[in-house]
Amino acid sequence: MTGTTTHFTKERAPCGRTVDGDRSQEGDAEGLSFDDTLFACGCRLIRHEFHDGSVRIRTVRHDGKVLLDEHSGDHEA
Ligand SMILES: [Zn+2]
Repeated sequence: MTGTTTHFTKERAPCGRTVDGDRSQEGDAEGLSFDDTLFACGCRLIRHEFHDGSVRIRTVRHDGKVLLDEHSGDHEA
């Protein structure tokens, strides 16, 4: 796995504040992909794609409240 971390400034966090933060992206050649964003206020955005094509998206506000927690595999019939 290879990863990169990018610092950003003045992005809108899930709580509505405009803050700085860091985004780290990792992946491999077979389709695995992790994309995590940590805002200075403590909010987090997490997007993980797995080898089977399923995707997990999670948004956690800085006070710990989970705003969004989705996994594509949860919705299979
Ligand atoms: Zn926040």
